[in-house]
Amino acid sequence: MPIMLDINRIAATTAPNLIRSVKMDDIGYWKELNKDNPISQHLSFDELDENMTGVCVIAFQYNLDYPELPEGCMSISPYYYYANKYYRHYSPLLNELALTGKIKILKDTHIKSLANLSGIGFYGKNSIIHNERFGSRFFMIALGLYEDTEWDKLNLETTDCGSCKLCVEACPTQALSQPYLLSRHQCLRHYMLTGIEMPEQYKPLMSDRLVGCDICQKACPKNIRQSEVDRMPDYDREVFEIERYMDNEGSGLNQMMPQLAEWIGKNYARANRVKEQCNNIYSNIKKG
Ligand code: SF4
Ligand code: SF4
Repeated sequence: MPIMLDINRIAATTAPNLIRSVKMDDIGYWKELNKDNPISQHLSFDELDENMTGVCVIAFQYNLDYPELPEGCMSISPYYYYANKYYRHYSPLLNELALTGKIKILKDTHIKSLANLSGIGFYGKNSIIHNERFGSRFFMIALGLYEDTEWDKLNLETTDCGSCKLCVEACPTQALSQPYLLSRHQCLRHYMLTGIEMPEQYKPLMSDRLVGCDICQKACPKNIRQSEVDRMPDYDREVFEIERYMDNEGSGLNQMMPQLAEWIGKNYARANRVKEQCNNIYSNIKKG
């Protein structure tokens, strides 16, 4: 069976999606053309081997709307909820497909570059990829392919924002003051559950967020269309009430992580990091 039929089948059972495939020669041409483009020059070939025929990028749509937050609780960006949910579904299926030797799951190749060159979308001034159908509300994975297929046309347009700068103006930390180029050390997401110490001046700006800051995405007119995916479920008070995390240490806190991991994934549900972020946002939530 052609490999793209398998990939399409797995994607279709995961979420509404867009799939684009580009051949290796086109990727090489794009890289040469963009080597001095500051927005999209990050593509490395380290993971792309000489037997690959091309690369396929899948974008899975999610819903950016937040449920109502119960009093005294922390919020999360729906991105983490959906990324974790989708990963749990497609990961065993793609791993099984990878065993046939027809695909390789790419883990370290710059996915935004692949998304842009394959036509999944354009770079926004918020440094996130967007397109007309999903806006920027999608989660992406990339696969190396080892057989020929019907390749999509190479996309050579980097951006389509025009004169809009709503995201740049909305960012509370001016992390987008050089449009398209995120200043990582000024972005709130950079400090959430990563173990990197947060500058004092950013703590009040964290508001009630345990993980994720969607201010620049919510400001974007590309996200105006209704999502085809249902909103994430209501917050479970038991999982998100901040007092429980402040009152527990050591093994008590560790025991709370599997429940939290159901929402944000195991990579982020790490006791020491969750505790640190709770310390950072506790007074914001209490001031309410
Ligand atoms: S995620 Fe938040 S802090 Fe980061 S660039 Fe967007 S609005 Fe600014
Ligand atoms: S808010 Fe405007 S400038 Fe920013 S990504 Fe969206 S369209 Fe582009």
